[in-house]
Amino acid sequence: METGKTEKSALDLEYYTFDNLSRYNGIYQRVFTRRGGVSSHPFNELNVSLSTGDKRENVLKNRELIAASLNVTSHKMIYLNQVHGKDFLVYRKDDKKSSSVDSLSSNIVDADGIVTDVKGIFPVIQVADCQAVILYDPVKNVVANIHSGWRGTVIDIIGNGVDIMTQSFGTKPSDILAGIAPSLGPCCSEFKNYKDEIPENLWKYRIDTDSLETGYNFDFWKISFDQLTEKGVKPENIEISGICTVCNTGEFFSYRGENRTGRFAVVAGIV
Ligand SMILES: [Zn+2]
Repeated sequence: METGKTEKSALDLEYYTFDNLSRYNGIYQRVFTRRGGVSSHPFNELNVSLSTGDKRENVLKNRELIAASLNVTSHKMIYLNQVHGKDFLVYRKDDKKSSSVDSLSSNIVDADGIVTDVKGIFPVIQVADCQAVILYDPVKNVVANIHSGWRGTVIDIIGNGVDIMTQSFGTKPSDILAGIAPSLGPCCSEFKNYKDEIPENLWKYRIDTDSLETGYNFDFWKISFDQLTEKGVKPENIEISGICTVCNTGEFFSYRGENRTGRFAVVAGIV
């Protein structure tokens, strides 16, 4: 993934893809920018969140546009009510509930990640600075889509995602490919109250900059990278987009950059 190297879908929605995941035909993955939807300022344009104050009909239209651009029936898109926890929804091929998924218009359940081996189910993570992390096991053909903001980082939801793939689907961590989507970069991640908010074992990820008089910036990309490798994911299989959402509000929604804003969509699924 490289800044500015977007592609356009049939409906003029702009998106990025991860290079490491693009080598496989079994996974569908897109990081949609904010461009191309119907929402107006400050949610312009492709806001997919129902909980940021945007008009419901516009959000639903945006979700429909994304579903249509994937060329799948819209009822297979799954939006979560993301709560900064570490719970996952798991959809298995042998599980009957997988065939009755319907969540385009609502966020079906409180959770911050989905793991599935069911073809045609497309988990969507909604973010504006938080990380969406896609994990893919090309051997067992299992995908995870994870929401990891700083609170999720603190409780290691990414590690939990690897554990679920390993325990429920027989994934070997060394087979996993990972993509960390555009999100809060070390350039913009100042935590003034880090001593209260971030546990001491993560303080080593502070970036010492002389220019900062209060607080410290943290490298959450590096933390996620390490959380993955600690679980056995190979460093060479991890792609960090390296695109900071705060620095790129023309392309992405950013909570830190804009405060009142929308959420962009990161989609992954087995095809
Ligand atoms: Zn930045």
